Amino acid sequence: MTVTFCRKCVMPSSRPGIVMDREGVCMACRWHEKKQSIDWDSRARQFQDIADWAKSVSRSSFDCILGVSGGKDSLWQAHQLRDRFGLNPLLVQYVSSDATELGRHNAENMVKCGFTLISIQPNPLVAQKLARKSFIEYGNIAKFSELALFSAPFRTAIEQDIPLVLFGENPALEAGDVNQDNPGWDASGVRFSHTLSGAATDIWLGDGVTSRDLIQYTFPSVAELESWGGRGVFMGYFLDWSGWNNAVFSIQHGLETHGDVPDNIGLHYRHHSLDSDFGAMVNFMLKYVKFGFGETTEHASYDIRAGRMTRKEAAALVKRLDGRCHPRYIHGFCEWIGINTNQFWEIADSFRGKMWRKDNKGEWYLEEPVWHHYQDLDEVDTDELIRRVDTIRRVEEIKQRREG
Ligand SMILES: [Zn+2]
Repeated sequence: MTVTFCRKCVMPSSRPGIVMDREGVCMACRWHEKKQSIDWDSRARQFQDIADWAKSVSRSSFDCILGVSGGKDSLWQAHQLRDRFGLNPLLVQYVSSDATELGRHNAENMVKCGFTLISIQPNPLVAQKLARKSFIEYGNIAKFSELALFSAPFRTAIEQDIPLVLFGENPALEAGDVNQDNPGWDASGVRFSHTLSGAATDIWLGDGVTSRDLIQYTFPSVAELESWGGRGVFMGYFLDWSGWNNAVFSIQHGLETHGDVPDNIGLHYRHHSLDSDFGAMVNFMLKYVKFGFGETTEHASYDIRAGRMTRKEAAALVKRLDGRCHPRYIHGFCEWIGINTNQFWEIADSFRGKMWRKDNKGEWYLEEPVWHHYQDLDEVDTDELIRRVDTIRRVEEIKQRREG
């Protein structure tokens, strides 16, 4: 299998749905370039129009619903809605069954910042069965929870008659999958996206799971959406979005980050995936097994586009961190769904992509990793690099400058 890489970032051709142009540059990099010439003031005025519409038609005391995970983007978005666009948002959070104390602290912090929050915690016994099936049949332990993440805010909007449902970034914009039918801001059609693939819940039935157990995972029907008459909107289309800047903002406003080291979690940032104990880490590693790239590739590509690191530095970081996952995360997951680690690896390996080879000791290795494109990667001091881009350090610097 020949894997090529975007010539600007470190994203491989094995990423599902990736499109590269004739110059070998991915659509996410092209989208980043395009963002530089967007008139963001004009986009913000467009969003203000939507906000004003919601305020004028809402029959609830809330103007809109913001779907939140409780992480770095949620807190920034909530502040934008209230302090910049004058909305009174109701925050709706889906809490996964492996939720952490840290996730609870950060949810509490959002409330302390002056917001109202509804947390939905679906039955963990059902979630456990769904996670097991999600892993065994799709090699993706988050497939079922993504359904709840998008369905819960719409369900709450319909129940409480709130006309506007907001999400963050639109994944289709980065994939270059935007056209007249999908103009880049419309989130009502999210159930048709690649991730949710039709949002049909039938595949989750059986093994004692009935359709009544799946209500939180079921996207409202077209009829329900039509009689509600509201809109679903991706804020990322209207605002000059930077996950890194959002993290700096949120840490300044009380977001707590985790303490695990990059080599245990396969990522150089501590502000990411704070609400899940093992799900996120295990899923990053499974992505690496299936598609040959993990979460470091994802974030280092953002870093390259934003000018925080060079492509060579990113390649060194990918070599060191991508796919790393401390065994305790895998243990935790296995215990939860009731399998042992041998079974875990047997299933994981059944999804292993064709970019992997086995050496004579039986160890898997990537045949054509991005770091093979550089000969002198040892020159890159990855410890220094991780410190340099660290959002927590940036917050401390800002604080010291203010105090000094
Ligand atoms: Zn790229």
